[in-house]
Amino acid sequence: MSNEYKSIHEFDLRLIYEYFSTMERQGPGSPEITIKALSFIDNLTNESKIVDIGCGTGGQTMVIANNTSGNITAIDLSSIFIDIFNINTQKLNLQDRVNGILGSMDNLPFQNEELDLIWSEGSIYNIGFERGINEWHKFLKKGAFVAISEASWFTQERPVEIDEFWNREYPEIDTISNKVTQMEKAGYIPIATFVLPEYCWTENFYAPQVSAQEKFLQKNVGNKTAEEFVENQRHEAKLYKKYKEFYGYVFYIGKKI
Ligand code: SAM
Repeated sequence: MSNEYKSIHEFDLRLIYEYFSTMERQGPGSPEITIKALSFIDNLTNESKIVDIGCGTGGQTMVIANNTSGNITAIDLSSIFIDIFNINTQKLNLQDRVNGILGSMDNLPFQNEELDLIWSEGSIYNIGFERGINEWHKFLKKGAFVAISEASWFTQERPVEIDEFWNREYPEIDTISNKVTQMEKAGYIPIATFVLPEYCWTENFYAPQVSAQEKFLQKNVGNKTAEEFVENQRHEAKLYKKYKEFYGYVFYIGKKI
């Protein structure tokens, strides 16, 4: 196994989808944090149109559904995730008002000023925070909300090792104040920002990966790319443990002006 770590973007998407499909969540978060973010949103009714972008298998979507009464469309690029998502809605008897569809966040199938809430946990990085909040703005009604969790720096300065890692993975990682400024420029009132607690990463994201990695390696025995991918995930988890005071996920809640 080489000591050179690849960027996650260099791996085959199917491999990544297979790896994460066995997990309840595909990014850091928790039901309590989704509910906390929801508590800042005050315009929702039975008629509300809610969209969850980059929903994965729907860990957070089902929490939104159980704590709101509107209709939810959830979108993801992965058909593996969307299939699991729609099985989950049936199991929870939410299929009448929650629908998972295949699609891309850079080509959303909505009308201008149609939506009451755009949700996106740990996914906007796929097109970049600034591009996403600007492009999605037109789909929201006036006074409607966005709620987005996004990798952010907690400090102005940080050790070189973690700075280089993130600049390779996601160069748009930035400080909370810079992200808030981007929201203001994009036409949102910043309603709230809060940092996700560490357990959202350690217990909810990295811990379930430990047993998933064993199963994944058994299934892909002898597959060097799979081994390298697991090695990369382990490296990322070690970096989080070492440098968690410098970065994490932050929820950004904004209201369209
Ligand atoms: N929101 C989920 C969660 O927190 O568990 C999933 C987060 S996961 C880190 C990122 C998700 O973005 C994946 O489900 C991936 O398939 C999806 N994704 C990647 N590119 C996308 C795109 N262009 N449009 C929609 N979804 C995309």
